[in-house]
Amino acid sequence: MTVYKNIGEFIDFVNISNDKFSLFEWKPPSSMRRFDLDLNIVKENPTSDIFFHKDKGNMKIVYIRKHGLIYTVGASPRVQYQLLEALLEYVDLKFNEMYDVDVILSYGDFSPGLFNEFNQRMEDIIKNFADLDLIKRIHVECKVCNTVLPLFVKKTVIENAESHPVPIVYIHKGHAILCFIDRNFHHRGVELVNITG
Ligand SMILES: [Zn+2]
Repeated sequence: MTVYKNIGEFIDFVNISNDKFSLFEWKPPSSMRRFDLDLNIVKENPTSDIFFHKDKGNMKIVYIRKHGLIYTVGASPRVQYQLLEALLEYVDLKFNEMYDVDVILSYGDFSPGLFNEFNQRMEDIIKNFADLDLIKRIHVECKVCNTVLPLFVKKTVIENAESHPVPIVYIHKGHAILCFIDRNFHHRGVELVNITG
């Protein structure tokens, strides 16, 4: 639960780019780390409107390309992917509420500080993340771990689903369970699944 409440402590960066520039980047105070290499790899993926996950061992990366922009977040492996997806969905919403990005960029004279004002908005989003009501926490039982685990699910996954229950694969500790979540965010069964990839 602490991860969810204090998500800011677990985030390495949030970046908004187009194919040419980084438009905006948030990092924790005093972080000097750079993520250019990760961002270059992300930019090579031309697929839009699908979240991609990347496990780097010491950092998880989630990214999505949406209406010409690429949103990326890097975080501690302790943060479940759904939390990071929810964060990026909300950042996308707020960034496009604040800026008409296409119009701004059409002037042609891009300067790096153009979107700096979004920093305060970003700080607020991270600080209040648990109160934004973007996530449901569901308890599922894993027969391998023999314990009840918290599963975080984006509300939009369930609310926008074409049919219910919605299957969610939860990979943890080297194995995976398949959980079926109904429209009331209750789980309707949990199965152990085989993994390849
Ligand atoms: Zn387990």
